[in-house]
Amino acid sequence: MAQDSSKDVPLKVLVAGGGIGGLVAALGLRQQGHDVIVFERTDLAKEFGAAIHIGPNGHGILKNLGIFPEELGANQFEKFADYDAQGELKNLMDLLSLDVWPHKWVGCHRVALHEKLKEKAIALEGPGIPVTLKTSSIVVDVDPESATVVLEDGSKYTGDIVLGADGVSSNTRKIVVGPEIKPRGSGKSLFRFMIPREAIQKNPRIAHFAQYNGCMTSWHGEVCRLVMYPCVNNTLMNFGAIHPSYMSPAKGEGWDQEASKEKLLEVFGAFGPQVKEMLDLVDSSTLKVWSLLDMERIPRWYKGRLALLGDAAHPFMPYQGQGACVAMEDAASIVALLPRGTSKDDILERLALYQSIRDERAHRIQASTRNSGQDLGEEEKRQVDWTNSFQYNFNHDEWQNSTKVLQEYLRNRTGPRI
Ligand SMILES: Cc1cc2nc3c(=O)[nH]c(=O)nc-3n(C[C@H](O)[C@H](O)[C@H](O)COP(=O)(O)OP(=O)(O)OC[C@H]3O[C@@H](n4cnc5c(N)ncnc54)[C@H](O)[C@@H]3O)c2cc1C
Repeated sequence: MAQDSSKDVPLKVLVAGGGIGGLVAALGLRQQGHDVIVFERTDLAKEFGAAIHIGPNGHGILKNLGIFPEELGANQFEKFADYDAQGELKNLMDLLSLDVWPHKWVGCHRVALHEKLKEKAIALEGPGIPVTLKTSSIVVDVDPESATVVLEDGSKYTGDIVLGADGVSSNTRKIVVGPEIKPRGSGKSLFRFMIPREAIQKNPRIAHFAQYNGCMTSWHGEVCRLVMYPCVNNTLMNFGAIHPSYMSPAKGEGWDQEASKEKLLEVFGAFGPQVKEMLDLVDSSTLKVWSLLDMERIPRWYKGRLALLGDAAHPFMPYQGQGACVAMEDAASIVALLPRGTSKDDILERLALYQSIRDERAHRIQASTRNSGQDLGEEEKRQVDWTNSFQYNFNHDEWQNSTKVLQEYLRNRTGPRI
């Protein structure tokens, strides 16, 4: 009997954007046996970024790919500490006693994670065909019907499927949903910076702020909020200082806009003296400010053979630390829906499945993130129980979920392909 040789032909996958989502997809698809090219706008010579959350829902995906965040210096979240703006402790919660999630919730330096994903994706050793990473390659257009990517220099690449993982300022999103749906300022901006934990611990007036390992600490003012958590084996404190955008000079959408210590101290001027003493430790050269962007729900996730994932599909604000995790979930779903042996003819039905799997969950997390960014009074804060959001976010394994949905779909498929 003749063998179906198409079963052994890897899909040619083109990925626009080599950020966290694009690289998780690329590595997973490589491990499924596919032939992947990633086009990344920057030269990736000096990646930047501070810490990101890896919730249990993202952590499991990384472990599946053979990446163990704790080997990259990620540390587990063990406590929550809540202070008021004057530095008075309001609540201290032990997270380890609540630790009912399938994997640990950790804080990781973005650069360490990004480097590891890149290294593993392009490594000559390991399963599958090494990913081709084309840096300084700006994707300016995609023809979704033929899965053709056009770069800024005019060169064209045709594959079987294109993934639009080009982040919050995505070009590929315009092709899928049109230019009208685009990110807009949420009214809030964020100063982002790092301070060595030792520098805080050395000062007896503020040492208590950094006394616990793995402590997610926040100070709440009326309209400003300061959040601090450790990364790099509890040695480096990552800060996000959230404030109304009109108070700071963030312009545009970049992750790397310079900011000044004077402006930071001015914006947080109403905070208590110990809090300001801690902020004064910031090294201005590491201080960035960015505008927190939000976007309306996209009506579809794919067009022809082009599918969106990560921030390109749903920019996230930082309030629940789910941006990278949901991008990884999208990527894991795509990977699970395209196992080795998937034929080119199956791609459209798989993308329809992808959208049906991801749309509700990603947007629900996006909406609850938006809610948790609201400025609430003391009484309102007491009434809100965020536990349900955390359980919903964390108790999910997208790899397993998408694999199961695909198996059921294939079992029940009787009619013609979509
Ligand atoms: C440099 C940088 C620093 C960041 N720092 C932090 C941080 O400190 N804390 C935090 O919580 N989140 C940070 N983020 C955001 C966070 O990583 C993402 O929100 C999340 O991981 C979702 O991942 P993503 O892959 O969808 O998007 P991203 O991680 O933003 O990746 C998108 C990638 O696409 C590339 N790209 C964009 N347009 C094109 C194009 N036209 N052609 C080719 N490539 C393109 C970008 O250069 C980028 O590498 C940062 C993102 C970047 C890019």
